[in-house]
Amino acid sequence: MVKNSRKIFVLGLDGVSWDQLNPLMKEGVLKNLKSICAKGVSGRMESIIPPETVPAWFAIATGLNPGKTGVFDYVNRTSRDSHTIVPLSPNCYSQRSIWDYLGKNGYEVGLFGYPTMSPPLEVQGFCVSGPDRSWEHPLAFPEGLEQELNDITGGYEDHINLRNPKYRKDIDTFFTDLNRIIKKQCNAIKYLAEKKNWDFFFAVFTFTDWMEHMLCKYYDTSHPDHDPPASREVLKKYHETWAIIDEFIGGLKSMLSEGTLMMIISDHGSGPVASAFYANTWLERMGWLRKKRGWKQRVAGNLKLFDGKSHSRYGSRVFRILRNRILKIKNIMDMIDVESSLAISPDHNVMAGCLHLTQAGKKIPGFRDKLVQELRELPQKIDGIESVEIYLPEETYHGECVGLSPDIIFAINKYGCTVEVDFNDKPFSASPSLPWRSGGHAPMGIFIGSGDGVAPQTLERLHILDMAPTILAFYCVPVPANMDGNARLSWVTPNQDRPCRSGSG
Ligand SMILES: [Zn+2]
Repeated sequence: MVKNSRKIFVLGLDGVSWDQLNPLMKEGVLKNLKSICAKGVSGRMESIIPPETVPAWFAIATGLNPGKTGVFDYVNRTSRDSHTIVPLSPNCYSQRSIWDYLGKNGYEVGLFGYPTMSPPLEVQGFCVSGPDRSWEHPLAFPEGLEQELNDITGGYEDHINLRNPKYRKDIDTFFTDLNRIIKKQCNAIKYLAEKKNWDFFFAVFTFTDWMEHMLCKYYDTSHPDHDPPASREVLKKYHETWAIIDEFIGGLKSMLSEGTLMMIISDHGSGPVASAFYANTWLERMGWLRKKRGWKQRVAGNLKLFDGKSHSRYGSRVFRILRNRILKIKNIMDMIDVESSLAISPDHNVMAGCLHLTQAGKKIPGFRDKLVQELRELPQKIDGIESVEIYLPEETYHGECVGLSPDIIFAINKYGCTVEVDFNDKPFSASPSLPWRSGGHAPMGIFIGSGDGVAPQTLERLHILDMAPTILAFYCVPVPANMDGNARLSWVTPNQDRPCRSGSG
């Protein structure tokens, strides 16, 4: 056993882009981050398609493109001929993630807040689930860690219900809750980094993504709904919150032992969202989708339970009981007559469009081309749609699971118009589907690297699929041949006093 092994600390800032960080650095809000960037390497890092939290973090962990894993979304279909979708579980990571390879080579791993880690993964080390966890499962592995975290934070917290109307009535309450949660997570990470054994620590902050969704129109001066006088007070609070994050980053950096490589990354970028496209309504208008006509669907239709603007009511208990228990209509598929439709958009969590051809649709020669053609012509037909980008599975992915991809993925207005599955009175709305959401995802995220032996430079053409091979290569763990990314390590000269455990580096 080598005593002073190599160490990497990765801090994931979900949804953060340079468009967000640069003004904050310029205005002196992110002093520590600015200094880390100046002394280290940085660059833009491209996400997968679609740039969405769960599949992106999954791609980071595995170094595999969605065509090899079947993970295109938080919910994915299980077979080519089915429209049944199932949520990603921690099991999907098994045997192919960075932490598996490191664990097998004797390295201790710490995971914190990684999306979809519920129940917490039993890694060689420790794992704390993220805010998307199920309350049925313990927060952390190993047993006893949850109690420790509760003790040191005075009751661990990591979740905010963004749909809570109180945040729209008084945005100060959002910042109060957010700052409290951020401080607890920061304290938990510092505690784990200091007290536990680890060679590789990967912590993810999801709240940075909540901030861009909630606050984009206030901080992004290019946002169509940006109103400078109305933004002034919110911006002050926004800066205070980022200053808390920056202070944590500075403290963490000085706490990490010499020779620890620090990486700060995001899974995707972010940008303004100002409109919504209702894919199933559009398919219905085109004559390619039919709704079910049962009494439950008629009641649901009359009460607008699957209406574009009903999202804001999802938090309501009465609404949920009515939908789920009385009508037993749990998702949009219960509203659609799949047998009589040619194309549908099943539930998805991504902000891009995802269309599936039904069995009947697949039988019609050239039908997918026709759909693609109609989507491409949307800018000429609908005011407010400026661009449509189409991603066909066979051109976008490679691997044995390409067939599980939606048949067409598309982005409108460069992801500035979200694509929804709910029905609406018209296919396009010039306002966001959720009243509180003014920001969304974009393909370009961030990469920052810092530590001994790192020479300042700008890195070009980084991709999130490069993360897993880069990390494994740093530890001299052989990079599996099926990984899609490349080891990008030219910017660091590893400290020779800290050899690899395998002894080969
Ligand atoms: Zn994300």
